[in-house]
Amino acid sequence: MKNLLVSILFFTAILNCSFGQQAKETEETRPKNIILMIGDGMGISQIYSGMVVNMGWLNIERMRYIGFSKTYSASDFITDSGAGGTAIATGKKTYNGAIGVGTDTMPVKSVLHLAEENGLSTGLVATSTITHATPASFIAHQKSRNSYEAIAADFLKTDIDLFIGGGKNHFEKRSDSINLSDKLRQKGYQVIYDTVGLKKAANSPVAALLSDSHMPAVSEGRGNMLPLSVEVAIEHLSDSNKGFFLMVEGSQIDWACHDTNATYLVEEMIDFDKAVGKALDFAEKDGNTLVIVTADHETGGVAVTGGDIKKGSAEIEFVCHNHTGVPVPVFAFGPGAESFIGFYENTGIFDKMIKLFGFSD
Ligand code: MG
Ligand code: ZN
Repeated sequence: MKNLLVSILFFTAILNCSFGQQAKETEETRPKNIILMIGDGMGISQIYSGMVVNMGWLNIERMRYIGFSKTYSASDFITDSGAGGTAIATGKKTYNGAIGVGTDTMPVKSVLHLAEENGLSTGLVATSTITHATPASFIAHQKSRNSYEAIAADFLKTDIDLFIGGGKNHFEKRSDSINLSDKLRQKGYQVIYDTVGLKKAANSPVAALLSDSHMPAVSEGRGNMLPLSVEVAIEHLSDSNKGFFLMVEGSQIDWACHDTNATYLVEEMIDFDKAVGKALDFAEKDGNTLVIVTADHETGGVAVTGGDIKKGSAEIEFVCHNHTGVPVPVFAFGPGAESFIGFYENTGIFDKMIKLFGFSD
């Protein structure tokens, strides 16, 4: 009898122990916050170009879980940034040029919409206009990526907590003469026009329109706008402690490759990596933040055909002026990062984020 009691006690202890462990593991692998960072057009050669010129090291290397995303769209072997962004944002492959709509042109909810519905704070940062295809895919629903003014109006249909980028004209110099910035102010946003204002941003929602059209390139004086915006965004979104979803785009890596301009590419790549560094610094301290770094597609068929890591020089060649069909890398850091290893569709990035957040779509 005594032996039986001992065994029962022992068995109960094992049960408790294993249940406790399981609960702990589930909690530990669930991120409270996700920072998704998209280098537009950023394939492995773009990353390595930046790495070599930066004397052989980038922040991206701090991320240990690595996978590959297949980028083709529903309509084309080679995706554009509308279909690519929409696949990552909504988990649905769609036609080239689509913004947050499926192949039937009907709206599809993005991870940002779902985050909002589930009470999280949300944000978008880009070095293009904020209405450009990649950020637009996360917030707007339009049949065409060129409907910039309609995309700007879609921002008002959400309660996004923060957005930072260019594109003031799409909000304030519109063909319908409506000033969307006034409407944003009525909704309680502070509309900010420069990085000085951004640094002083108060606790209310932020709409930072830092340029009439696209942000300038690093070489044209963009300065530290992108890394600074990531810092400000994280501080702002983490403040409420509700958990957050933030998408950050290094928009101009793609444009440099369309231009087959190696210097432009390297400058934009290293700048984007500095922004990645800011996100990783926060994630390391916080412990509840998943950082994902990926691309919507590769651009230019870039090859690194020579170089000197000690001198920080690279010979970079392009096979074309356009996007290519090769898979792009996905780097992950933080709780849930291990689920990003392997080869999967670009829509898998959405699926994994939603699962890790615990949302049902
Ligand atoms: Mg883009
Ligand atoms: Zn492009």
